[in-house]
Amino acid sequence: MADENSTASGGCLCGKIRFEVQGDPVGAGYCHCRSCRKQTGAPLAAFAVFRTDQVTWISGERARYESSPGVFRSFCPVCGSTLALEAVYGGVDLTEFHISALDEPDAFPPNEHTHYKEKIPWLHVADDLKKYPGSMM
Ligand SMILES: [Zn+2]
Ligand SMILES: [Zn+2]
Repeated sequence: MADENSTASGGCLCGKIRFEVQGDPVGAGYCHCRSCRKQTGAPLAAFAVFRTDQVTWISGERARYESSPGVFRSFCPVCGSTLALEAVYGGVDLTEFHISALDEPDAFPPNEHTHYKEKIPWLHVADDLKKYPGSMM
């Protein structure tokens, strides 16, 4: 498991965008909200959440789409890979990486579900993680 000094790397499918994160994530979880589902095209999204000051963008220029005021969804303009949700929550500047944008997602197991009330009915979730009807906050 990661510690304060550990570094994890990540990037998009084509390799144009690369980034590094320093230290442990502040959280990791699934999101069932419609915006995440639309952006990914997947039935749900999973994130590893870092403070933005833990993040270094190494190469490439990511594109950002403002999906709601102050909430930016970043992606690779070449291959379209979803990268992160970037927003300030509770006064903290966060970069929530889509979990498979990280090179080793095994290291960041999700520990909750958010926006569970928006879950697609045919998706059956068998884990014992906390399920928040909306956001955690
Ligand atoms: Zn790319
Ligand atoms: Zn979401």
